[in-house]
Amino acid sequence: MLEEFKDEQTIAYKIIKNTLSKQHFAHAYLIETNNYSESFKLVMTFAKMLLCPNYNNGQPNCNNCHQCQMIDDNNFPELKIINPDGNWIKKEQLTELQEEFNKKSIIGNKKIYIINKAEKLNNNSANTILKFLEEPQEGIIAILVTDNIYQLLETIISRCQIISLNGQAKFLKNKSSLEKIALLSTDNEIDYNNFIKDENNQEKINIILKFIKYYEKNHKKVLLYMNEYWFDYFQTKENISWAILIFIYFYKDVLNYKINCPIEIFNDYIDNIKEVANLNNIINLTNKIKVLNTNRNYLDNNANLNLLMDKIIIEMEVNYD
Ligand SMILES: [Zn+2]
Repeated sequence: MLEEFKDEQTIAYKIIKNTLSKQHFAHAYLIETNNYSESFKLVMTFAKMLLCPNYNNGQPNCNNCHQCQMIDDNNFPELKIINPDGNWIKKEQLTELQEEFNKKSIIGNKKIYIINKAEKLNNNSANTILKFLEEPQEGIIAILVTDNIYQLLETIISRCQIISLNGQAKFLKNKSSLEKIALLSTDNEIDYNNFIKDENNQEKINIILKFIKYYEKNHKKVLLYMNEYWFDYFQTKENISWAILIFIYFYKDVLNYKINCPIEIFNDYIDNIKEVANLNNIINLTNKIKVLNTNRNYLDNNANLNLLMDKIIIEMEVNYD
């Protein structure tokens, strides 16, 4: 039931409720999960409400009719769910879907396809989706779900109505930045407590913020000082991966600040946030987050650790050249 998301996902709840009550549907929705643990449940609830024939007959929370049952059993012909096949979502998966959907619908007047992990679209499959989105067909609704919106093509994003879920729901409220970072860096209570106790972690966060500050003011010149600002502290793959993640969270918060959304993680560092916000526009910030994300994802593919940070800096500077 949608109601169960009312408090945790207020914005998504309102958008969905509004869409359904006005019966005014976008051709495509892009759900940005922000790692919200119940995101798939929410997506399925949304899909079910779009498809259930009782929605407009005074039973908005049906969950009971033949259609709803079939959807629960993953057996409803007008709802297709696509997951990555191996590392990628493949073009063949999408053309197959298209062929099936070109047949006349059997039940109801809508067809929905859900693409999970849309960031796993490769060049070919992304172009196929783009064609769907450019020439929407009456009654077909796409729901793209992504953990990482920055890996999607701008052209895809711009054709979707974005519903961004609140990933910090519940568990991050009223915590210090260090506690939030500890929660995001560990997956059990013992590690969490050790993370907080270890003074090195606070020190590392300070070093990353100092590095960002120096970089933001001096741009490529920071490359001359990489040893003292970076390499002395971050050497192993795990360390570097973690540090880049902190980098990403920080820039995301700068972006939040810039677009008047609540600061998620770095609430204790509002001066740093403001300073960096003044030095960037939204395009710069989005680009920086994208560069960091992409390079972090390639860490496992034998990336040269010594050159990785240099590469990131150079790529982040592209918009300034
Ligand atoms: Zn129903």
